[in-house]
Amino acid sequence: MRSITKIELQYAHRFYKFQGEAQYLHGHTGVLTIEVEDTVDPGVNMVFPCNEIQKVAWDVLKNFDHALVLREDDPLLPAILDVYDKQGIRNGSPNNKMKGAAFKTELATAYPDCRLVVTKETMTVEGMIKIVYDLLKDKLNIARLTFTSGVNAATQEYAPDKTVDRCPLCGVALVNGVCPKCGYRKH
Ligand SMILES: [Zn+2]
Ligand SMILES: [Zn+2]
Repeated sequence: MRSITKIELQYAHRFYKFQGEAQYLHGHTGVLTIEVEDTVDPGVNMVFPCNEIQKVAWDVLKNFDHALVLREDDPLLPAILDVYDKQGIRNGSPNNKMKGAAFKTELATAYPDCRLVVTKETMTVEGMIKIVYDLLKDKLNIARLTFTSGVNAATQEYAPDKTVDRCPLCGVALVNGVCPKCGYRKH
């Protein structure tokens, strides 16, 4: 069965060199739907608690929220970093608190201090799904990702082939047989 949850991300981006309005900098509220598949854990009668899926995903994905997402070859990138530099906010500011853990994958690099994500490919809804899968595939048994942004939407199915050992009391994934939330030990 599947547990399904949604995350909202507000971001700015543009499609560099795209022949259309999207080549201009603009913003969206994107909605990511994450479907996690596994057996139903008999203890909690859940696949996975949805708030826990959100927590795991939000840890890295908050890098995209109130962030600017630009392709690595976009000339706006050095121009914006120059402005942030001159303003003294490139390496953080006291009001920039909601920061995710910095990450670097094949497809994207996050710079939480200046709320910037630099991507290898244009960040379309399809591009975002590839980035998100890469970031979360080892943390969650993802069966499907859907991303919508304005009138655009994309979805991709995956075939999760493992089962995660979960706590029968709170449903979260056990770490070396121990629940990180309540301390339950598998025997
Ligand atoms: Zn857009
Ligand atoms: Zn527990």
